[in-house]
Amino acid sequence: MTKRLIFLGPPGAGKGTQAERLARALGLPAVSTGAVLREAVAAGSPLGQQVKAVMEAGQLVSDDMMVAVLMGWLESHQARDGFILDGFPRTLAQAEALEAHALQVDVVVELVLSDAVIVERLSGRWVHKPSGRTYHERFHPPKTPGLDDETGEPLTQRPDDQPETIRQRLQVYHQQTAPLVAHYQALAKRDAQLAYLSVDADRSIEVVQAEMLDALQALGVG
Ligand code: AMP
Repeated sequence: MTKRLIFLGPPGAGKGTQAERLARALGLPAVSTGAVLREAVAAGSPLGQQVKAVMEAGQLVSDDMMVAVLMGWLESHQARDGFILDGFPRTLAQAEALEAHALQVDVVVELVLSDAVIVERLSGRWVHKPSGRTYHERFHPPKTPGLDDETGEPLTQRPDDQPETIRQRLQVYHQQTAPLVAHYQALAKRDAQLAYLSVDADRSIEVVQAEMLDALQALGVG
């Protein structure tokens, strides 16, 4: 049986954190398409140069480019039959590309969070760039404001976590990604192989994780 899991939900709902934890719990490879793109930007690769401005404006990278990025990742990790995706698909065309490549999804985990909470969460987010460690002014502050706990180096904000860009990303989410909720819910009704899980993400990381793992276990995944 294949184990193909995807995370759906707005920016800031905790998809990255939960996807990483789930990957460890299930022993599956996980990919964050946003992280792959950020690495490409940092490395100044041709892909990075093409996507930098689009990302900083809070817009989506083109479907063709994203499908190519994902397919490349799946191939290099030999992960066609078992993977966790964080940040893909983000449009109906991307969801259809998975189906067209015979990569039918087995489980959708939707993290549900209101816009007001998202803005609060994202605008307080700080990153230690070299390690990827993340902090939050209110929910997970560093020991010394503005500095990484382990190295003492300065923290920075993701360029797309600035308030103006957050609003833009939310708008893009509602217009282009939210329709995937109805798409996969309808698919799950028709197809007994597809499980759709909705989790309230307005709780601590641990509580969300525990509920998600319990529900997956009940489904026989995990
Ligand atoms: P994330 O870290 O998932 O919030 O992604 C950061 C940014 O990367 C997004 O705002 C988009 O510009 C871009 N991105 C990541 N995944 C995708 C995708 N599947 N389709 C289009 N753009 C994406």
